[in-house]
Amino acid sequence: MAACAHLDQIEVPELPESVEGCEDCLRDGGVWLHLRICLTCGHVGCCDDSPNRHATAHHQAAGHPLIRSLEPGDEWSWCYLDELAMVIGDVRGQTRIPPSPMLAG
Ligand SMILES: [Zn+2]
Ligand SMILES: [Zn+2]
Ligand SMILES: [Zn+2]
Repeated sequence: MAACAHLDQIEVPELPESVEGCEDCLRDGGVWLHLRICLTCGHVGCCDDSPNRHATAHHQAAGHPLIRSLEPGDEWSWCYLDELAMVIGDVRGQTRIPPSPMLAG
């Protein structure tokens, strides 16, 4: 059975109470669909269905392997290196996020 060998790189055991959105989109004036957080450094980026795919870009730039979805009700995490989805019970909390600017209006 496949298992992720990168759980020791998790340095964000507790999700933030709230975030403003994808930090790269907010800086560049972009829009996002879904939000993902890097479990190594806490970077908040946007999903691969967003125009700029900042979560994947962050993985490629920083080499951090694991993200977790910040969408309400989502509990899954994803390891880029193993291409494996999983639920990591050690990561606690629930993050308040604003609605997607792509879906607003
Ligand atoms: Zn892994
Ligand atoms: Zn973004
Ligand atoms: Zn990171």
